[in-house]
Amino acid sequence: MTNCIFCKILNKEIPSKFVYEDEFCFAINDINPKAKKHILVIPKNHVESLNEVEDTMLLKHMFDAIKKINKQENISHFKTLINTGKNAGQEVMHLHIHILAD
Ligand code: AMP
Ligand code: ZN
Repeated sequence: MTNCIFCKILNKEIPSKFVYEDEFCFAINDINPKAKKHILVIPKNHVESLNEVEDTMLLKHMFDAIKKINKQENISHFKTLINTGKNAGQEVMHLHIHILAD
């Protein structure tokens, strides 16, 4: 998707440090953190939101990735958040799971 921030980050058109990467997803620090640690887990395929997920194995994969990221980042107490749709606060229309830890 050409005009998508997260696709641009994945394609290195916007510089960003990946804190995690595998075949299906990657993770970056949120540019405007709302907790001491605020990480976004993002699928490599452009999927607009949870509503557009066709194969829910993607979600399993992302939550498995979250377990690995949390181990790597020493996070054990955390919140996860998925905003779905503009009226629910989704600003970037490419699915992502927030990890928030204080
Ligand atoms: P949401 O409101 O759920 O769509 O969350 C989008 C998140 O993406 C917000 O927390 C933003 O701070 C974050 N964000 C936007 N642009 C960037 C960027 N270039 N790098 C990292 N995080 C970003
Ligand atoms: Zn995208």
